[in-house]
Amino acid sequence: MAVQINDIQFHLAHACNLHCKGCSHYSNYGVKSASAPGGIMPYETGKEWLTAWSKRIKPRTFHLLGGEPAINPRFKDYIYLTKELFPETELRIFSNGLLLGRHPTLDEALIATDASLVVSIHGKEPDYVARMNKVMPLLGSWQQAGAKVFVYNSNENWYDPYVGEGKNMRPFADNNPRKAWEVCAEKACPQLHENKLWKCPSIAYLGQVADRFDLHGVPEWKPYLAVDGLSLDATDAEIAAFFAEEEVDYCGMCPTKLDRFELETTLGEEEVV
Ligand code: SF4
Ligand code: SF4
Repeated sequence: MAVQINDIQFHLAHACNLHCKGCSHYSNYGVKSASAPGGIMPYETGKEWLTAWSKRIKPRTFHLLGGEPAINPRFKDYIYLTKELFPETELRIFSNGLLLGRHPTLDEALIATDASLVVSIHGKEPDYVARMNKVMPLLGSWQQAGAKVFVYNSNENWYDPYVGEGKNMRPFADNNPRKAWEVCAEKACPQLHENKLWKCPSIAYLGQVADRFDLHGVPEWKPYLAVDGLSLDATDAEIAAFFAEEEVDYCGMCPTKLDRFELETTLGEEEVV
């Protein structure tokens, strides 16, 4: 019998059209993996993983996100697939909105699966606002058709999940797992990645950003890069324990105090609608 859990998150794309400082998924760096060429999760690979885990976990909510999920050309198919495999889950889709025009009939999938689409506003700059304003009528038409579409402002309350940037990024040296976990903003964000379960995006996608910036030889990262996810070999008891566990040793890489700042986003060149 599948193990009942609260939440799980799955990337339809590691890639993102925005580049936000402090992205805990490292999607601001254009990360990718062998299983997701170009940073886009192939449908057949995703289907294999989701099918396998649908027999092991029963999440109350299932989040499809990224990166930017709308970059994935099979976006709509993934929504139907996830609901088919996890029929009792509450399906939520997170997007920065700008590329939703690539999926003009997404509302059909949202309505059919009773999914919620949450669009987060990621900037105040005139160029960003102008691009977002082009998308708003489409969102309005989906709402009028009966889809659950929510728009919220995510410009506040960002923080650095690591120190430095790019090839100079390093873990925090606080090394206080309990304190870091207590303030952690990602503790309810377990990931399904590389056909394994991970406690949070910071650890799930760390290997990808290490590949991108050649961080594997950096001593400060080594203990964290050695962390592995929970595979399908795990017993139900191990899966239940994984989700019940609070701080773990590798929480030591995270800050014990979140110094909040207003979001700094750089726009990509991608076409909006
Ligand atoms: S839009 Fe979201 S996923 Fe993309 S870089 Fe910004 S925070 Fe990360
Ligand atoms: S490693 Fe621990 S403290 Fe850091 S983001 Fe993940 S769950 Fe939170």
